[in-house]
Amino acid sequence: MIKKCGTHGYFRGDSCHCGETGTLMLDDEQTERLGRFISGALRHFPDDLGLAMNQHGWVDAEVLCDAMKTRYKWASKDKLFSIIESDEKGRYEIQGRKIRARYGHSVLVDLDYPKNEHHLLYYGASREEVDILLEKGIRPIKQRYVHLSTTIEKAMEVAKIHTDDPVLIVINASEAQNDGVTILNATENIVLADEIPPQYLNLTESQT
Ligand SMILES: [Zn+2]
Repeated sequence: MIKKCGTHGYFRGDSCHCGETGTLMLDDEQTERLGRFISGALRHFPDDLGLAMNQHGWVDAEVLCDAMKTRYKWASKDKLFSIIESDEKGRYEIQGRKIRARYGHSVLVDLDYPKNEHHLLYYGASREEVDILLEKGIRPIKQRYVHLSTTIEKAMEVAKIHTDDPVLIVINASEAQNDGVTILNATENIVLADEIPPQYLNLTESQT
């Protein structure tokens, strides 16, 4: 559930870090529904909703809010912002009147983030796909970008959503970037790339 603290704004859970119990914005089911709608709108089907997304993935918050209210009569701008601002994974970004998803797009966007500064990056692969990745490189399948993690822990956490026993692939990001591969810093934990060619991939850190 999402609540609002008079001092610290929107938060998820029973109480704010200051101890305030706050006022209820969205219950669990509403959070789930609106969250899925916003994520879908900003990552996968902006055109279906007439959001006029620009090339960097931004849409007008008012237009998104109107589309949301058409679907969910109980929705409101405050409820939209309560989801965006309390998101714990940093999925969204707000700039003035504009909103965008920071990562996870299947629509063709051209995100303008700063260059990655991590020397090594990580990707958790399933046992079945690891050989083909090491041979062909990591390419996006349904998504616009390849999503890589800045820590081993995050890479394994992401991979475990899809496979029980992931294999860690280590990416020599600085070498790839020196050779002209674009790698962008989306959040503290997630970086995006068009693709990572196979020569920058290894199974252990010691080989890189
Ligand atoms: Zn508080």
